[in-house]
Amino acid sequence: MSNLEQTLSIIKPDAVERNLSEEIKQVFKNNDFKILKEKKIKLEKHEAEKFYQVHQSKPFYNDLCTYLSSGAIVVMILEKENAVLDNRKLMGATDPLKAENGTLRKKYGVSIDKNSVHGSDSTENAKIEIDFFFKN
Ligand code: UDP
Ligand code: MG
Repeated sequence: MSNLEQTLSIIKPDAVERNLSEEIKQVFKNNDFKILKEKKIKLEKHEAEKFYQVHQSKPFYNDLCTYLSSGAIVVMILEKENAVLDNRKLMGATDPLKAENGTLRKKYGVSIDKNSVHGSDSTENAKIEIDFFFKN
């Protein structure tokens, strides 16, 4: 049965500033993701805080929001069968040191905080995150 999904992907500041955006977009395309929409933006800190509000009780929350708003990011709506899970697989573990060979975070990630990409973790959060960046 077909299960066409959309998920939100972000190329984070560490990857954008190393000019890896085009290379990472090509990896998505090579893995059958269609990039439906994309834009390069820079968030204000309060916007990053809103985006990551599920993590507001975590010790890394403030640094995370400072980091996500520290430079340009590329946000994309990706579409394919099982896009949410397949994107998480392609990204690899949160900590690049623990990410499997062939994953984006293994290849491009610098550290657990500068891990190059974000991807929605459920179809429900994908809808919320897509609306956050692309509604209107
Ligand atoms: N993060 C961090 N320190 C940690 C855990 C997470 O800096 O100990 C950052 C990291 O950039 C991660 C983001 O917070 O991508 C969101 O954390 P989450 O657990 O949701 O990981 P993800 O879903 O991105 O794999
Ligand atoms: Mg997450």
